Amino acid sequence: GAEDGFLPLSERRLTVLSGPSGVGKSTVVAELRRAHPEVWLSVSVTTRRPRPGEVHGVHYYFVDGDEFDRLVAAGELLEWAEFAGNRYGTPREPVLKKLAEGVPTLLEIDLEGARQVRRSMPEALLVFLAPPSWEELEKRLRGRGTEPEDVIARRLAAGRIEMAAESEFDLTLVNTSVQDVCRRLIALMTDPQGVTTTT
Ligand code: 5GP
Repeated sequence: GAEDGFLPLSERRLTVLSGPSGVGKSTVVAELRRAHPEVWLSVSVTTRRPRPGEVHGVHYYFVDGDEFDRLVAAGELLEWAEFAGNRYGTPREPVLKKLAEGVPTLLEIDLEGARQVRRSMPEALLVFLAPPSWEELEKRLRGRGTEPEDVIARRLAAGRIEMAAESEFDLTLVNTSVQDVCRRLIALMTDPQGVTTTT
């Protein structure tokens, strides 16, 4: 297992990037999409409404609640979780197909989803994206400072709980810069020594 510090390449092509909300996971994925087409990024289904600039089939598959229910009932999702009032899930078939083809494959999902992947695919490499410091995460969770103090307090409490999940992961990457994180991720996914040299 990952405790050995070394896994055969074939067993760690599925990489899961997760971490506390506000840590910058989506910025890392945007940079991978731009600069590293050799990595296949899983496209999740979500019941959330598209944000400006988001493209169906590229950033997400946007579905309604009934369709999400159907996918869950049919067992078509590798994992799924509810986040901030919306549901998100990873379509199983495309992931298995890419893994079978030997393509480096990345899921960017929340902590609950990462736990589910840990249970269903124990050979996956789980990477925790951490902020450079708690103060930095706190700054991001506080946002523009326009929210009421009780909302901020709830976000900070959730952030502390999310940070504690780090111990469940195979390794941590500190988000000092998006380029640095991408470089390390690519090394992990493509270099057999990656697991031992990047912790
Ligand atoms: P956003 O709405 O900002 O795009 O994403 C909200 C959260 O949902 C992020 O933490 C993101 O990592 C997570 N997420 C995106 N896709 C999936 C998925 O397929 N499964 C799970 N469990 N979480 C996801």
